[in-house]
Amino acid sequence: MSKEIEIQVNSKFESKFLKGYPLINKDMVHNVAVLKREGSIINLIDRNRKFIAKGYYGIQNKGIGWVLTRNKGEKIDYLFFKNKIQEAIDKRQSFFNAPDTNAFRVFNGEGDGIGGMTIDFFDGYYLLNWYSEGIYSYKEQVIRVLDEIMDYKAIYEKKRFDTKGKYIDDDDFVKGERGEFPIIVKENGMNYAVYLNDGAMVGIFLDQRDVRKVIRDKYANQKNVLNTFSYTGAFSIAAALGGAAKTTSVDLAKRSKSKTIEQFSVNGIDFEQQDIVVMDVFDYFKYANRKEMKFDLVILDPPSFARSKKRTFSSAKDYTGLLKDAISITEKNGIIVASTNNATFGMKKFKNFVDQAFKEMNVKYQIKESFGLPEDFHTTKDFPEGNYLKVLFIEKRG
Ligand code: SAH
Repeated sequence: MSKEIEIQVNSKFESKFLKGYPLINKDMVHNVAVLKREGSIINLIDRNRKFIAKGYYGIQNKGIGWVLTRNKGEKIDYLFFKNKIQEAIDKRQSFFNAPDTNAFRVFNGEGDGIGGMTIDFFDGYYLLNWYSEGIYSYKEQVIRVLDEIMDYKAIYEKKRFDTKGKYIDDDDFVKGERGEFPIIVKENGMNYAVYLNDGAMVGIFLDQRDVRKVIRDKYANQKNVLNTFSYTGAFSIAAALGGAAKTTSVDLAKRSKSKTIEQFSVNGIDFEQQDIVVMDVFDYFKYANRKEMKFDLVILDPPSFARSKKRTFSSAKDYTGLLKDAISITEKNGIIVASTNNATFGMKKFKNFVDQAFKEMNVKYQIKESFGLPEDFHTTKDFPEGNYLKVLFIEKRG
């Protein structure tokens, strides 16, 4: 490895890094201009040139790098990656041994000690997610670790950083024996079709596992369910398997329809008994209101930010409005599942959106339960924004 580069921390942020904050933001450090090559090792120093922490340079949508160690003498080499990954794998033994789940997160970025990289497991296939060119420069070490300590069918990867029009692998295959997709993974006994070779989204978001389970086990039986921003319909599958009278899945992406049909089919559910609608959710609310339709269970899981032909939706700005639309088509004593993965606000603010929406609609409510990230999405208290997922089960009262 080439030599480590000293970067002085802006004095305002010294104590933040000393307390353990792992994300290096541009405004927290001086002389970033000396950083040329992504992947370079940085030593953060204070105004007296005293060592604070060691990390790497890598430009992400958030930050310009991550702290990796507070030990000045520690080398960022193969052994470093091996220890971190081994530790993460040890923590997930209960997942590796689970009889009815074989899709989960093995390594969760900064939560497992290396920001900018995650590893997911799908029934013997590993998926590496690289969030910057900087961390991508350590790919060889990471693959060597997997080769040495794990058995696998194949490794795939997603480069989630700007590759500036350069060559991007068309099927994201790295090593092993190419899979035949979809593979069918199991989650708490449910089946999900997964494609590791077809773009950034693989068919299922693993972080909603606990929410899918509770929908199936506690909330769906005999219910008329509306699943908005439904993507491949994962929540609809859980609801149908939980005995829902009917599910309606709404997403504006055309391919969501065939994807949802596939997810129903791999679970032995007759999709023709379900509604799958390709439509803008906000138009669907208007349509449902016009038809005076009401649902017992309404699931809201919008992206943090979406731009469609007609409008832009930002969960930080527009969630209250979305909830109001949902409230208007939810039965009395029905449940709204409100979910957001927006890391820029916390649970408190999210609950404020809920409170505001119900107040403006002049309707009472009760929060029945709440969820954050599941156990395999390990987070660190030093980086609370890493626990981005917030899900509330809200009962509409009178
Ligand atoms: N709830 C899904 C994940 C949602 S991903 C799950 O559990 O798997 C976000 C989805 O929202 C995408 O499929 C996208 O096509 C859809 N989407 C974004 N804006 C939309 C809009 N205005 N109306 C309907 N769908 C929208």
